[in-house]
Amino acid sequence: MDDQGLLLYLPTMVFIGLALFFLLLWRLGLASSWQWSAGFVQTGIGFGLSTFPVEPQFDQLASGILFIGAAYCYGSALMIHFGSDRLTALRRGLAAFFLVPHVYYVFVDPNLKLVLFNIEMVFASLFAIAVFMILGRSRNSADRVLVVASALATVDSLVRGIVFTFVYPTSEEMSDFVESAYNLSVHVTTLTICLLFPFSAISALALRAVDRHRQAAARDPMTGLLNRRGFEAAIGELAKSGRTSGSIVIVDIDHFKAINDSLGHDAGDQVIVDMAARLQDRAEQNMVVARFGGEEFVILLRQASEAQAVNWAEMMRQSLKDASVTRLHRASFTASFGVSGMSDLQRDLLPAIRRADQALYHAKRNGRDRVECASGLEAQSLTANCLLVSLA
Ligand code: GH3
Ligand code: MG
Ligand code: MG
Repeated sequence: MDDQGLLLYLPTMVFIGLALFFLLLWRLGLASSWQWSAGFVQTGIGFGLSTFPVEPQFDQLASGILFIGAAYCYGSALMIHFGSDRLTALRRGLAAFFLVPHVYYVFVDPNLKLVLFNIEMVFASLFAIAVFMILGRSRNSADRVLVVASALATVDSLVRGIVFTFVYPTSEEMSDFVESAYNLSVHVTTLTICLLFPFSAISALALRAVDRHRQAAARDPMTGLLNRRGFEAAIGELAKSGRTSGSIVIVDIDHFKAINDSLGHDAGDQVIVDMAARLQDRAEQNMVVARFGGEEFVILLRQASEAQAVNWAEMMRQSLKDASVTRLHRASFTASFGVSGMSDLQRDLLPAIRRADQALYHAKRNGRDRVECASGLEAQSLTANCLLVSLA
């Protein structure tokens, strides 16, 4: 096989390979949609038709439909990946409208130059709509490279369509097409700048998958709150921005075993989910809410003094009396709260959690349904209600 022969075969092989690879990624749940694979398989077959011609009019008709189908699928894949509006009606309308001049210049008034121009312009438009919709939605550098690669594919099609129609017109003969400068340029740019598109898509998908797994490892699936690991990671991030004070509140639902025993485990789960929702509803911007396990929740109140945290905990405790918020069972439930302040998030987090835990233990011992704070314990007033401390 000579160099030019190899150049003609390569895109077909490369894109079919990419289609299989993206299909595998989708089956493994790593690709955001099947449209990636569908785009690459159509591109591969489209190239196959220009390399192994069957019958001129059939080749023109089919490869046009395949390339526009591919651009439509790439656009959908990009928009799904970036979570933008998919503008389905507009893009379907454009793809359908493409068929009118396509069929006309293939069968009614055969004109290869205009067939190719129509394909390039609609291909570029479908890509351009997607690029426009995903602009500003990148979450990381791989996403940004993917946006640039998509913009390059758009420009590539646009420039080729204009150059080979108006500046250096293509031969009108389909028999010349395989060896034409146009076909050669398609293959060369496809194997150079356009390959940036699938490879940047692979890295963008990989980075998203890693991100998803990292998120999943940091969250409690039942309530959607951070778990202990996620909580500590979030605090680590906050601490990076400099020395910050704050307070820790630990909440434990009272007599939860009895809820499980009397209403069943599912109802118990619902109470945990309710509690998580209530905490999140009342959490302010400076708070990080986590479920450490069972029916125990930990809340960081950034830059809040222990007294402020006690007031918040007291407000939370009172709000549990409103049974109307509890969805599954009519009876309300109570919870006990332990609070501890700290002067530096990074250094004092674990000791503050320990102190808040001790305060919680005392809240349980002192009759439950109450708030106790670490400074109250340290002042030896084990029976003191922290609200009094905070208001003093
Ligand atoms: P206390 O007032 O002293 O906190 O009493 P308690 O009954 O709440 O005691 P404890 O905190 O020790 O009980 C926790 C129970 O929560 C034990 C466990 O069976 C139950 N539990 C832990 N995780 C879950 C869960 O995800 N769902 C349900 N339904 N129950 C859970
Ligand atoms: Mg409990
Ligand atoms: Mg507990």
